[in-house]
Amino acid sequence: MNRFFNKVAQHLDKLDAESVRGQYKGLVQEFTLLETVFRALGEGVIVASAEGLLVYANPAAERLAHFEFSSAKNAPLVDVLPGWNVADLLSPPSDVQWSRAAMREITQTYPERRILEVQAMPNGEATILIVRDVTLAHAREADALESSRIEAIQQLASGVAHEIGNPLNALSLNLDLLARDLRKEPDPDRRARLLTDVETAKREVKRIDAINRGFLNALRPVKPVLKPGNLADPLKATLEELKPRFADRAIRVALDLPSALPSVIFDEGQLQQVFFNLIKNALEAMKDGGALAIAIDVTDAEVAISFRDTGSGIPAADLGRLFEPYHTTKGELGNGLGLMMCRRIVRAHGGEIDVESKEGEGTRFTVRLPRLEKRVRRLT
Ligand code: ADP
Ligand code: MG
Repeated sequence: MNRFFNKVAQHLDKLDAESVRGQYKGLVQEFTLLETVFRALGEGVIVASAEGLLVYANPAAERLAHFEFSSAKNAPLVDVLPGWNVADLLSPPSDVQWSRAAMREITQTYPERRILEVQAMPNGEATILIVRDVTLAHAREADALESSRIEAIQQLASGVAHEIGNPLNALSLNLDLLARDLRKEPDPDRRARLLTDVETAKREVKRIDAINRGFLNALRPVKPVLKPGNLADPLKATLEELKPRFADRAIRVALDLPSALPSVIFDEGQLQQVFFNLIKNALEAMKDGGALAIAIDVTDAEVAISFRDTGSGIPAADLGRLFEPYHTTKGELGNGLGLMMCRRIVRAHGGEIDVESKEGEGTRFTVRLPRLEKRVRRLT
């Protein structure tokens, strides 16, 4: 196309007005078409001059990199894209025109966390930057990695747990036999002492057994049996079950339900388990009483159930480890498996669980589940 334009330019003085007009009209059409394509593109396109000034940017680029082309035109790219290491982008390896070598990843943290992939293509003196949002792709990769790692650990661990179960049973049985024999011991002092020892041993075996069972339970894969239903039902059932504990601790509970709840598909028993764990955690965080506000909010795509407590809150440093198995701040009284289970169940429902917290003020856990019609649409 360039050759053609050059030719026209060379012979411009020999062309009559009519053909110049024709050529010009053709050019305008061509330009309009290209402009339309660039405007519709999901990828951002940014063109920088040899001097590093902004020559062109399409709307996707404006959106991804947060600037306004009309006001940034001809400004130094360094100013338009703060934090982008522009110098590096504008001098891609000269022998590579279109390859990974000229590809950079940029992590934006404001206004939200986004990962952009930027491909720099030298074009004569100018440089063209192609910008893609790869945040989702990254998240999916990380998710897949995490689930395959969890699966491997699960297999290994449940094997070990089963193996522990058998000798534990034998041990328990033998301790029973031992106790029976000891009751025949004629010396009462000695009998009492030895029986106490056996009782202690039995208690410890029981404890290992409980830990082992909890462990196996936590590792069991969760395949929810999904049925359409009203989310308020498992929520109310769980509240009913936990009611005595609210009264015990002077905790006020407020339940805020929308007048109409859209259909969601879920496994009733599993969601009860999630709600139970979240409410129990909230109660445990409000040692001296407080308030628990439970609300269901409906948006276009999802139904969100939130649990806001006025409890101890969670130190920022702990937030990242909350869902890790065995992370607990409750010592003997906790096992650190509740939230891990909650997340696994919610994810198996195609949802997500979020947490916001301020130390000393309280915590809000939010369970988001996809709405039925959206989910169907997403699956097809
Ligand atoms: P556990 O309750 O057995 O400790 P969980 O997985 O349910 O295990 O919770 C892990 C940890 O997260 C808790 O030990 C606690 O420190 C913290 N946590 C969970 N929910 C809350 C909450 N509502 N308020 C404050 N801390 C919480
Ligand atoms: Mg818990």
